[in-house]
Amino acid sequence: MPGERTITALPRLVAGLAREDRELFGRIFQVNAVTGRLHLPPEMREWVEKKFGPVDRVKNQEIIKVTNLVTLEGALFNRLRAARPVEGAPAGPVREEIARAQGGPFCRPEEKTPADPFGRVRGRYCLTASNIAKYDGHHGVIIFDEHNPLAVSGDAVVDAFITARRWADLVREQDPAAKYYFFLWNCLWKSGASIIHGHAQATVAREMHYPKVEALRRAMVAYREKYGSGYFEDLYRVHDAVGLAWRWGEVKGFAYLTPVKEREVFLLAGEPGPELYRAAARVIEGYRAIASWSFNLALLVPPLEKTAEDWGGFPAIIRIVDRGDPAVRNSDIGAMELYAASVITSDPFWVAEKIKQVGA
Ligand SMILES: [Zn+2]
Repeated sequence: MPGERTITALPRLVAGLAREDRELFGRIFQVNAVTGRLHLPPEMREWVEKKFGPVDRVKNQEIIKVTNLVTLEGALFNRLRAARPVEGAPAGPVREEIARAQGGPFCRPEEKTPADPFGRVRGRYCLTASNIAKYDGHHGVIIFDEHNPLAVSGDAVVDAFITARRWADLVREQDPAAKYYFFLWNCLWKSGASIIHGHAQATVAREMHYPKVEALRRAMVAYREKYGSGYFEDLYRVHDAVGLAWRWGEVKGFAYLTPVKEREVFLLAGEPGPELYRAAARVIEGYRAIASWSFNLALLVPPLEKTAEDWGGFPAIIRIVDRGDPAVRNSDIGAMELYAASVITSDPFWVAEKIKQVGA
């Protein structure tokens, strides 16, 4: 495909696809390009040039709106809103704040955190605790031995997933009706983490999967009924067609076109397991390289035993999203994200290029 691959070039990229890919793309995504115009008082010119670059880019702003027609997720891309460094180490105050939290409760989990009624699971690089203020009836914490979440190794990331799953198996020995397993990692305060020391979390629910996972399953089923093909296979294919996807062994990855917030990456695998977990560690390594220090990660998997719902074709999914510079005080999420659509400054084509390079 000729020309630059950027989010503003997306309409042209899609138009240039082979017919079959273009039709598939159109089933899943609606793309609209709009221009936002404004008049600049002459007194503002100098400031605008310093802050945003060429004045014309501000007077005529290119906005790309992408809607996932299957899941009704939406993203509004305007690169003009980006104003943050893209590489380097975390700012000094962030490093200092992490160091200051050294010696907190998660540094001595056996004395300072509660255990589950069945005890704790010891991994190679982590130990589980029972969450003191639970999201759900079964809610564990996977505490890394490493205090600094930005220094957690790839092996430790893989180990956290494996240890959390062992924890879920112990939960199910006590409560066999608990079968909807969920794993998450909030990294640093910008992502909602209340404790700085590196830790992931896991829950197991009884009645149904969490509503957002269930909604995704329903969207997948509706898509299959309407088109007779697999939603996740097609989702990967259209991302691959425009140049946003990659493969790491059996694991498929892509920078998502309707990200929930900045720089979102999807990983898909037939089954949860070390290969998928290793891929997540690779994305985190890539995130560190592009100064994404604070992130949310979630593992979405079908229930751990057969249920009445149709989960056929639902892969093991990891979603990872950047939550912005931890040195910046304002929140990255406002009313648009909560009630309308996600406002995005990062270009998924740039994200895909950066993540593809990791370990290559
Ligand atoms: Zn600590």
